[in-house]
Amino acid sequence: MPPINKRLHITGIVQGVGFRPTVFNLAGKYQLTGWVLNNAHGVEIELHGAAEQIQAFTQDLRQNPPPLAIIDSFSEEDAPAIPFADFQIRHSEDNASEFLPVSPDLTICPDCERELFDPSNRRFRYPFINCTHCGPRFSIVRGIPYDRPNTSMAGFPLCPDCASEYHDPTNRRFHAQPIACPVCGPHIWYEEGGQLEADRETALQAARSALSSGKILAVKGLGGFHLVCDAQNPQALEELRARKRRSGKPFALMAFNLKVIQKFARVSPEEQKLLTSTVSPIVLLELTPQGKELAKLVAPDQNRLGFMLPYTPLHLLLLEPAPNFPEVLVMTSGNLSEEPIAFTNEDARQRLSNLADGFLLHDRPIHMRVDDSVVSIIDGTPHLQRRARGYAPLPVQLPVSAIPSLACGTELKNTFCLARERYAFVSHHIGDLENQETLTAFEAAISHYERIFRIQPQLLAADLHPDYLASRYARQRAADENLPLVEVQHHHAHIASCMADNGLSHLAQVIGLAFDGTGYGTDGKIWGGEVLLANWGGFERLFHFEYMPLPGGEAAVRKPARMAYSLTLQAGIDPNRFPFRFHHALDAQEQAAIASQIKTGFNTPLTSSLGRLFDGVAALIGLHQQITYEAQNAIALEAIADPDEKVRYDFPLQDGQILVTPAIRAIVRDLEQKVSPGVISARFHNGLTACAVTVSEKVRAQTGLRQVALSGGVWQNKTLIKQTISALNASGFEVLFPRKLPTNDGGVSLGQILVALAVSGNLKE
Ligand code: ZN
Ligand code: ZN
Ligand code: FE
Repeated sequence: MPPINKRLHITGIVQGVGFRPTVFNLAGKYQLTGWVLNNAHGVEIELHGAAEQIQAFTQDLRQNPPPLAIIDSFSEEDAPAIPFADFQIRHSEDNASEFLPVSPDLTICPDCERELFDPSNRRFRYPFINCTHCGPRFSIVRGIPYDRPNTSMAGFPLCPDCASEYHDPTNRRFHAQPIACPVCGPHIWYEEGGQLEADRETALQAARSALSSGKILAVKGLGGFHLVCDAQNPQALEELRARKRRSGKPFALMAFNLKVIQKFARVSPEEQKLLTSTVSPIVLLELTPQGKELAKLVAPDQNRLGFMLPYTPLHLLLLEPAPNFPEVLVMTSGNLSEEPIAFTNEDARQRLSNLADGFLLHDRPIHMRVDDSVVSIIDGTPHLQRRARGYAPLPVQLPVSAIPSLACGTELKNTFCLARERYAFVSHHIGDLENQETLTAFEAAISHYERIFRIQPQLLAADLHPDYLASRYARQRAADENLPLVEVQHHHAHIASCMADNGLSHLAQVIGLAFDGTGYGTDGKIWGGEVLLANWGGFERLFHFEYMPLPGGEAAVRKPARMAYSLTLQAGIDPNRFPFRFHHALDAQEQAAIASQIKTGFNTPLTSSLGRLFDGVAALIGLHQQITYEAQNAIALEAIADPDEKVRYDFPLQDGQILVTPAIRAIVRDLEQKVSPGVISARFHNGLTACAVTVSEKVRAQTGLRQVALSGGVWQNKTLIKQTISALNASGFEVLFPRKLPTNDGGVSLGQILVALAVSGNLKE
């Protein structure tokens, strides 16, 4: 048999993950000649050799791709039988019309970690050690194809030693774009009061002794700055809260290894797997008795702590155990309150100088800021709460082909989504779009994604809410560029997002339970407890939670005592009948004002939001009367729920409404009978679960549908989602919940784009 030629085209996450070296070595194994190259569409390979050897090569590559690769397509075609002298890695080719996914940033790998602490290695204690299997990717990419000149490593020419590793196909650093060493690469230094104090190893030691003595540092990491301090030093924590203007919100923690985390938290096998994965997100963990003590300091009224492991060499060096060195560090995002995290040295010096006593800096530029991701494991399955480092910008694959389009997302926990062909690129977590700084970060990120994925939107989508900054951006852009804009109802987008996340196409229809905080309704009211019959192209609102007045609007969101007062009035209960705890937070004047607002409707929107119901019920039974961050009261209410309580409150259905007032009356009765808050909380959770099953059964009886999609921020409640999934399963439903994206507003942009594509008739098989 004469030798033949074959061309292979592979798409997906195939660049920056060691694909070409793997191919090179496989070609040697099967004695094939030819070449491999990266282009703007993925990886292309040409093979020359015996047909059976080529077949064996292909099978081997399909079965054993590089571990970090994610292959979306793998095609083969015959090529003219041209011989080659050898097998070569050719220069990357670019074709401006093509595009490909980019790898997320990757946690330091075990080999690099070993070398980092090996005194005989030339990168011993070098904070930027990395290889083909690990290191920065998305945060340093400036363009495609993924090659060093297109990254923020462009300014660090390789020294001869690094260059020889880079060009050696047998080396772990073969074609690893971000590699560096102490001779040629970036370095660290330490500043205090704007003065350079130390550099390299002495900088590290200076930073560590500052942490030991209770100081707060700004540390430049992979995707931005952290504010760092000893997690067990009450003065440091108090100082950090005061400076960051963040009173109650929990802080994320980092420990050197799993063993330290296990002192404070119970770690299941799935949680361990996630903590030690290439993503290394913050994982929310249940507490040990020692962990409960720690939580009092760093995460008041939470029954979980957010822990992560060091994911860069710099973090490993910073946390290395030593006598008198803190074993757990607070690692909270380097920003003031709700601004985006700082990511350039200049930005950090300006914005963080009042927050940090010292700065641990380095000169590897971060091109795109990316926060830490936050995940919790529920029944063995990861649920993303914040999707950023390690996940973004992995695309969601669409079952249909999309025209180039952009969805601008929502106000809180904003992400945007850019779609092209069968890919939807949901951005990393941008933040709450409530200030100019975040809006600027949002616009910069959109331009960056449009550039690296070469998407020039022809269709725009936005939330129906007229005042969201993201919606305004969309309207402005639609006008400037003369583009069609589709405004999408918030909860419709939530459900569509959940559908696509689970691989359902535009042809499917589901029962959608959008249990959420806030979303603008088609009737101008504030929705958030919605039962929808939905597909991508439309929805019917079959049930919703009873409308309740929200006296003072935003004021009642920040002060749930107002909501509690409103709930009692609405339930026909005299707010003075019982010494309700909300009396402490509302003086006679404010109570009178609320009563009048409810009567007249002045500045008092009506809401079916379950988020507000959680807030109000929590305040009613004596939890926070004022909150400092979103969902604080819902988290507090869940934390006290008695797991053994089986009784539930009733949420009866009436004319498409799910009545809330009977449950409020039952709660007040229980309060009067001194039933404990933990039992009341459990009865409330149990009631919502039963209600979710009842409405789903009603819709199934009408439509025959068996798939229930859960989406909305309320489903971050672990107790509620766990018991609801199991009750729905027991009733014969298939339950869908977001898996790749958060269930909160971080997932809405995907739904917006799908709805916009469907209603504008822009989907192709
Ligand atoms: Zn490595
Ligand atoms: Zn070097
Ligand atoms: Fe929402």
